[in-house]
Amino acid sequence: MKFHIHTYGCQMNVRDSEAVEALLIAEGHEKASNEEEAQLVIVNSCTVRQKAEDKALGKAGNLIADGKITGVMGCAVKRLGADIFRRLPALHFAVGPRMFSRIPDIVERITSVPAAVMPRRILEVGENEIPKGLGAHPSAVCTGTFSDVHSFVTVMIGCDNRCSYCIVPDVRGHEWCRPFDEIVSEVKSLAERGVKEVCLLGQSVLRYNDSGKTFPDLLRALQEIDGLLRIRFTSAHPSGCTDELLSAYRDCPKVCRHLHLPVQSGSNRILSEMGRRYTREEYLKAVAKMRAFDPQFAVTTDVIVGYPGESEEDFEMTRSLMDEALFDNSFIFKYSPRPGTKSSLMEDDVSKEEKERRNQVLLSDQERRGIELNSRLINSVRRVLVEGPSKRKSERWSGRDSGNRIVVFEPCEGISVGSEVDVKILEAHAQVLVGEIV
Ligand code: SAH
Ligand code: SF4
Repeated sequence: MKFHIHTYGCQMNVRDSEAVEALLIAEGHEKASNEEEAQLVIVNSCTVRQKAEDKALGKAGNLIADGKITGVMGCAVKRLGADIFRRLPALHFAVGPRMFSRIPDIVERITSVPAAVMPRRILEVGENEIPKGLGAHPSAVCTGTFSDVHSFVTVMIGCDNRCSYCIVPDVRGHEWCRPFDEIVSEVKSLAERGVKEVCLLGQSVLRYNDSGKTFPDLLRALQEIDGLLRIRFTSAHPSGCTDELLSAYRDCPKVCRHLHLPVQSGSNRILSEMGRRYTREEYLKAVAKMRAFDPQFAVTTDVIVGYPGESEEDFEMTRSLMDEALFDNSFIFKYSPRPGTKSSLMEDDVSKEEKERRNQVLLSDQERRGIELNSRLINSVRRVLVEGPSKRKSERWSGRDSGNRIVVFEPCEGISVGSEVDVKILEAHAQVLVGEIV
């Protein structure tokens, strides 16, 4: 059967969708070249904000109306449970984020009977199961050559942090670290199949611990893998920016000089209410530590605007922290109350308009900061991992430097995807550097 997976949300969802793709291909199903051509469409849903959930469920509704065999997987399924069928009564199946390995069996159950009697509303939610198939990867089951330069690798699932606003622990369950050796052998086999860069995924990866083997130990083991050029990871927490981490950076040149270090707020009062377990000062100290190690170390972040009770003064603290931290990039989210979380008991008292205004202010601050930071790189030479033709102008190619900055360059004759080139930077924009190969 031809299938298509439509993915919303974070990188974990992207990775889970890939695993489902691999599991379905292994059972003889075929990836459709687009959604129209597919008979079976699976929506991988997000519920971190209400808008994300609504989009995913809206999409599933349209697919059912189009006559597709439709399933929803991911975080919204765990939040809603059987209620998802109130919203989508003709949905064929719904599978929670830790149960995706059941999808091939469910598809078999549905498609082995005539369309008129096809079962609908099959639900597999689960609680804290360890998902099977975490390492399933399309490159292992696809025929022909596999040409992805980059691959996500799950190292941790779930979360035990319980930040006041966040639904992730409820939907993705308790934190669990994948066995060390399993991760190392997955990365080895990806490198053998031509992957040059891996991004290790977990809600708080610096907490990784498998019977005493820590995250810095994992970085050291991956550094040794032949053919692999770069190692990234996300997300990090300032408490993990230890001397041991820095010493792993020092010893492992493949580990990219970039941290995604979500700050959420610059106000100590809000940080404490959020249960983030660091102060503004501790956060800035962690950033300074990384930049003392390498002045071009890139730091990116997530920020929430309009958390309950966020005053103008709190917001200005966030603005000033963002300038002090000199973030290379930031992702701004408007607070959305999530049922069952601690903060959902507080009044969502910052108006929609004010959230939007604060969002715009932070976006334009980031634009200015991005240009300023990137301008400092003009005339420097950045080592770029080539990804392919640039999206805007196909006569130029693009790739990323170690700090995850997008670099567009010319000339591109004779350059191959997955190789590394040195590019002299000639132009700087907020999100992109432009240069020429030296
Ligand atoms: N584990 C990561 C974050 C995962 S959720 C970490 O702690 O760093 C991704 C981002 O979504 C968060 O960093 C936060 O900025 C945002 N987010 C989470 N819950 C939210 C909510 N209720 N409203 C708005 N944004 C939210
Ligand atoms: Fe959510 Fe906090 Fe866990 Fe991140 S660390 S997933 S924000 S509870």
